[in-house]
Amino acid sequence: MSSYADGGDVAETAAVVAGIARDLELVDHHCHQLVAGPLGGDRFERLLGEGAFAAPAGCSAADTGLGLAVRALCAPVLDLPVGAGIAEYVERRAELGTDEVHRRLMSGGASTYLVDTGYAPDELCSVDQMAGWTGGRVAEVARLETLAERVATHTFWDGGTGRTGEGGAVPNRAIAARMAGRAARTYAERLEEEMEKCRGVSGWKSVAAYRCGLGLDWSRPGPAQVREAAREWLSAEPDRQGRWRLENPVLIAHGVWAALDSGLPVQFHTGFGDNDVRLASADPTLLDPLIRATADGRSPIMLLHCWPYHRQAGYLAMVWPHVYMDVGLAIPHAGHRAAAILAEALELAPWHKVLYSSDAFGLAELYHLGVGLWREALASVLQPLSSAGFGNEELVRLGSLVGSGNALRVYGLD
Ligand SMILES: [Zn+2]
Repeated sequence: MSSYADGGDVAETAAVVAGIARDLELVDHHCHQLVAGPLGGDRFERLLGEGAFAAPAGCSAADTGLGLAVRALCAPVLDLPVGAGIAEYVERRAELGTDEVHRRLMSGGASTYLVDTGYAPDELCSVDQMAGWTGGRVAEVARLETLAERVATHTFWDGGTGRTGEGGAVPNRAIAARMAGRAARTYAERLEEEMEKCRGVSGWKSVAAYRCGLGLDWSRPGPAQVREAAREWLSAEPDRQGRWRLENPVLIAHGVWAALDSGLPVQFHTGFGDNDVRLASADPTLLDPLIRATADGRSPIMLLHCWPYHRQAGYLAMVWPHVYMDVGLAIPHAGHRAAAILAEALELAPWHKVLYSSDAFGLAELYHLGVGLWREALASVLQPLSSAGFGNEELVRLGSLVGSGNALRVYGLD
């Protein structure tokens, strides 16, 4: 009887399976832009972690799965030995310069990048620069909460240069409340206009998990409910930077339903992220009511990252026709354990429902590791199939679905 655990010819087939995984085309269906300029050591270490705090004195924020992966897999690309210290690594980075570091680490990457441009755009490069550095096709995904926040900003600010009430002055509370009431009446139309300006994007993204958690009332809010929620939100004081952060669950649900109506895929942040996320409220199974209500052929629902809920996400991808998932972000962070996570996602998720993503942000190292560790992880998931007797053609077919085929099909990128 053949067996997945048949170790007889593993050594022989391992190189072939690794070669298959190495040669697959990849479409990165969720990532962000690269940083544009040079980086100091502190900033580099900060970008390596998802928590915004420094390591204890004498320790390094890079003593993590991700930091060790940088020292193991990125150091040689910059002509350093495996295990080079982070200080030495940062020094070498500075010596080579941003262009050369990006050129080296981004080569052999994905063929296409779907970029969520809604996070920290001032700190990051433009989409055109991104296309230049990656040498790949770059398409945009628009963040719904950012579009709603633009509506708020346009209500009170003139071109971002100053708050303008009646007569161009900074409005007092009474005037601001009147402006909020007026704007709330047309909030839905104004959000629609912002979405209309995004014509040509490949999909939408919601960060509900960061704002109010995924366990909100997902029924479609009616017009009166939206007006009242908008009035309440716009009447509140902005934060210290003069921004209105959208946390209102009615308006978040409203934006998501507007996106689902478009027919384009809608990405949801689920699972871990930086320490702004409430992890317990980021379980994708909290989207169950929305998934049930949209199983009639509306837009695909894309569950991003998912860890540590990737098994739950795999179940959802198995039982619902329009649910897809990835384990991006977890792959580079888990470093040497990446293969276990991809294998766990594929316990239940069909191969035609899992996508590749890096969720890389800022550092070229994250794109490089996203690709490299994912290829290694995929090889280790394919290996038992090879041992059991599946031919290379079938392994290429399965790997191609996850690497690029599912993304090309679902986003209509062909
Ligand atoms: Zn992301």
